[in-house]
Amino acid sequence: SDLMLELEIDLEEAYLGTSREIQVPRHETCGECGGSGLEKGYGKDLCPDCGGDGRITHTRRSSFGTFSSVTTCRRCKGTGEINTHPCSSCEGKGVKTLLDTLKVEVPAGVSDGDRVRIKGKGEAGTGGAPPGDLYVEVRIREHDTFVRRGDDLLAEVNVSMAEAALGTEIDIPTLDGVEKLRIPPGSQPGTVFRLRGRGMPRVNSRSTGDLYLSLNVNIPRKLTAEQRKLLEEFHRIESQGKGGGGFIHRLRKAMRPQS
Ligand SMILES: [Zn+2]
Ligand SMILES: [Zn+2]
Repeated sequence: SDLMLELEIDLEEAYLGTSREIQVPRHETCGECGGSGLEKGYGKDLCPDCGGDGRITHTRRSSFGTFSSVTTCRRCKGTGEINTHPCSSCEGKGVKTLLDTLKVEVPAGVSDGDRVRIKGKGEAGTGGAPPGDLYVEVRIREHDTFVRRGDDLLAEVNVSMAEAALGTEIDIPTLDGVEKLRIPPGSQPGTVFRLRGRGMPRVNSRSTGDLYLSLNVNIPRKLTAEQRKLLEEFHRIESQGKGGGGFIHRLRKAMRPQS
């Protein structure tokens, strides 16, 4: 029959493709006891709880008469026999679990939930049937920086208030290293930069998704005395530049005594 295993990888590994060794359990008949689960030279014993019957009869008497019910013997599970000399090699189970090491090739661009099939490496067939296939289901761990949407990657980048206004060049993360991105002067918070072809590769294809970077503009939570002075100066100039600026300014101007 077919066998399914899970393999957890990082987004970087999904980006580049990876080759991983996994351990696959395989059940094999115990060679020591030939599957009987008995130590050499011993046989099974009659179950003392049910006397070999496999069933236990419970009888209850009451003023209405005698009632009896039959249950399966718990000790021998209804077989009537118990194994008092279990095979030391398989602990009486008759089968041994071995671990096979297999190599799994995970293709670049693999998605969470994709399955890699390895033919003939499933569980052994019974009664001479061919073995099933092994399916390795790929799980991709969440990434600290990137969110994946199909073949596209999404991330946030941060600049200061002044950098957004003046423009700058920043280092941006990609899945295979750091790159430069030019932030043009006057960039607004929430602006999304699209880098074509810098997303995830597509399995069995030469095309790739895109990388979307959303711009965060950090407003300072605390100002030094100098920063405050400069910002107030900036604000004053900005207000003048607007010719009085907003509603409050116009209101104040209107209420000022005319000279
Ligand atoms: Zn029994
Ligand atoms: Zn055994």
